[in-house]
Amino acid sequence: MTLYGEIRSLAEKKNALILAHNYQNPQIQDAADHVGDSLELARVAASNSASIIVFCGVHFMAESAYILSPSKKVLLPDITAGCPMADMVTAAALRAKKKELPNAKVVTYINSPADAKAESDVICTSSNAVKIVQNIDADEILFVPDKNLGNWVSRFTDKKIHLWDGYCPIHALITADEIIRIKQEHPDALLMVHPECSPEIINLADEVFSTGEMVRFVQKTDKKKIIVGTESGMIHKLKKAAPDKEFILASENFFCKNMKKTTLEKVLAALKSEEPVVTVPDETADRARLALEKMLELSR
Ligand code: SF4
Repeated sequence: MTLYGEIRSLAEKKNALILAHNYQNPQIQDAADHVGDSLELARVAASNSASIIVFCGVHFMAESAYILSPSKKVLLPDITAGCPMADMVTAAALRAKKKELPNAKVVTYINSPADAKAESDVICTSSNAVKIVQNIDADEILFVPDKNLGNWVSRFTDKKIHLWDGYCPIHALITADEIIRIKQEHPDALLMVHPECSPEIINLADEVFSTGEMVRFVQKTDKKKIIVGTESGMIHKLKKAAPDKEFILASENFFCKNMKKTTLEKVLAALKSEEPVVTVPDETADRARLALEKMLELSR
């Protein structure tokens, strides 16, 4: 039997659901039951009757899935797959900042550790961050940890936004020169980028979208050629969503080595051993869940 076949048959036997983030390698995406962004996947995990979730992504995503569905066993095939941006905020540092800014409400990007979520008023994703900041009952916001997403959000509100000094090192690698060059090479292409890119890159883009919005956009646009300014795994997802279109990765630097740590071999090993398991202490999970539920309420 192929590796793919072994994974699928063991997943069925053990009532396990395989979830893959949009940035995973193509073979992982193809072996998964669902491919999506971190929130879509956490929601699928929570609404599904599977007893095991194999989360092909990075640590904070598996934590979010556990927080929303604590009765399930959540496995992360490579326990060292972390997110450097999520690691740029700690609960202790956030508590200290909250003391400095007593009037600010804390809006925390889902790319954050569970204990930082627990210190937050509300969580956001890249697709609902603007709406959350607009709808939250506060004129002063502490936006954590992605300063680039926070900067993007600040273009749509008059509220005072304090930015945490965090960022995605992958999206930060892209230079304006690279973008200008690729636009010149493909003058007939549209450029769409993720809001984790720096303001300089965003200013050069035709569209700024979360990964979920990118998928929906390419399915309906008349544009045939699209330059994609986000992690390389997205190209596979977009080609499947719109096979008639041409997608060009804006830069070879869009490669998250943490996302690419998941392999089919590790997925099979996780299914066999039911390890490594990701959990969150009850008290932290309960508080983080409140912030996640607040997001669902404010993004309606
Ligand atoms: S692409 Fe950036 S934000 Fe996403 S997991 Fe990798 S380091 Fe974290």
